[in-house]
Amino acid sequence: MEDRVVIAGGGPAGLMLACELRLMGVDAVVLERTVEPDENAQGMAVHGRSLEVFKQRGLADRIRKEDIWAWPRTPFAFFWLDLDGVGEADHTYAFPQWRTERLLEDRARELGVDIRRGHELVGFQQDATGVTVETRSAAGDGQVRGAYLVGCDGAESRVRDLAGIEFEAGGLTYYGVLGDVVLPDGPQPEFTTGLFQQGMFGALPLQAGELRLMTIEFGSAGPDRDTPVTVDELRASIRRVTGTDPRVEGVRWLSRFGGATRHAQRYRDGRVLLAGDAAHVLYISGTQGLNAGIQDAVNLGWKLAAEIQGWAPSGLLDTYHGERHPVGERICVHARAQMALMHPLDRVTPLRGLVAELLEIDAVNRFLLELPSATGYPLPAADGAEGEPHPLLGQPIPDVPLDTGGGPAGTAEALHAGRGVLLDLSGGAVDLGDADAWAGRVDVITAEPVPELDAAVLLVRPDGHVAYADRTGGSGKGLRPALAAWFGEPASADAGAVGAAG
Ligand SMILES: Cc1cc2nc3c(=O)[nH]c(=O)nc-3n(C[C@H](O)[C@H](O)[C@H](O)COP(=O)(O)OP(=O)(O)OC[C@H]3O[C@@H](n4cnc5c(N)ncnc54)[C@H](O)[C@@H]3O)c2cc1C
Repeated sequence: MEDRVVIAGGGPAGLMLACELRLMGVDAVVLERTVEPDENAQGMAVHGRSLEVFKQRGLADRIRKEDIWAWPRTPFAFFWLDLDGVGEADHTYAFPQWRTERLLEDRARELGVDIRRGHELVGFQQDATGVTVETRSAAGDGQVRGAYLVGCDGAESRVRDLAGIEFEAGGLTYYGVLGDVVLPDGPQPEFTTGLFQQGMFGALPLQAGELRLMTIEFGSAGPDRDTPVTVDELRASIRRVTGTDPRVEGVRWLSRFGGATRHAQRYRDGRVLLAGDAAHVLYISGTQGLNAGIQDAVNLGWKLAAEIQGWAPSGLLDTYHGERHPVGERICVHARAQMALMHPLDRVTPLRGLVAELLEIDAVNRFLLELPSATGYPLPAADGAEGEPHPLLGQPIPDVPLDTGGGPAGTAEALHAGRGVLLDLSGGAVDLGDADAWAGRVDVITAEPVPELDAAVLLVRPDGHVAYADRTGGSGKGLRPALAAWFGEPASADAGAVGAAG
């Protein structure tokens, strides 16, 4: 069983990764220590960028059927950013995390992922050809072997600890308690939040008939993790933060959270990799955690598949750390900066005044809205590529309609299969040469020119990022090196050259 991937953790990152691997035809085993899925979750919202990814995998219709709505506001350090200036991808959508997990688990099962609930990873050893993982379940101890192990086992990741990967902490720590309250019929409460000297308090409508009461206390650690969370703990925390004695009734579920914002020093140790909260755990403001885990998974899945199937170009798997670690660093800085702008309130008030003025500048507002979910990678232009790099190089491809004469109706649909896409918009001006030799890794799709894309030929990686873009069609000299750089040598040995027609 050296051709499969073992994934520790069946949260959003682990399930998404498993789906990505199965789409590429690679087996995945998910070890999840909880026995049953939970219909409660700390996470409250998904980011538009995650929805874009789900759309690229054909999951948009399932989400649309659910009760999901755009939250009217996006927070940054307890300022409300103005959403008017950005597109849908930078909005936040109310969608409790357990529903995202349920959707991904259903999808993973449909795709044939081996999900082993009630199985905990307790150890592993890696060698030259794979990783042997030790498991514990009600049936006893066991082993499962795979070519790679990915730790998607959350903030307290056992995989990360056993691999000896340092988890660097920085910025303020915090502690929070939340209680989900069932509301009586009648008018539903408004979204209310307040920033105080000790922390913050919020009453956030979660879904119809349900309200989340939530505190955050800065610089606090909270009780020991084994201490059960009680309504009294929530009440006491609200009292410490707001100075008022709250009436808390109808609580359905309680949870405690907090810690520091932390970032793994490396995302890879040989055949062991990290994704999601195992790699980065963030102060919660800005709906970044789940979003970042989904992006990790789509960045990693096809690269692991390429390694296992033997077509990965040299160094491809290392680009996972190379591309995602800087993004992780950036979102950690973003999270820590937010905390530094909130506490202690009396000291930071003048700074907050200044930031409030800066936020009046559209470019600043937009920058802060886009930053936490930005997933552009500084990809190099391919050898032989001509002219200035195209602005889409390294960026997620925008979702635009395509006229393919019966093929996919848009760029997102073109990515449903989870393979790379070579989009020929040149009207036949570019000879794609032996591009068919990458069949199975890259789908060639011909469509009418699309003004928004401003390109004759685009090569899109399975994770939706543009790896090569040729504005004019030119000589097409860069296309073949780009195909080889991301998708390895072509399957057919006597492949010819790619160049301009005529
Ligand atoms: C109060 C709060 C609100 C939040 N709100 C949002 C939000 O609105 N939007 C957002 O994007 N993010 C939010 N987050 C962050 C988000 O919840 C996390 O980033 C997200 O859950 C990370 O997903 P993951 O799959 O990496 O890890 P997890 O969701 O932690 O999943 C890890 C899984 O691994 C399993 N596991 C652990 N150890 C083992 C083991 N040894 N063997 C087998 N299984 C194991 C666990 O049972 C768990 O199912 C919030 C966080 C908190 C605390």
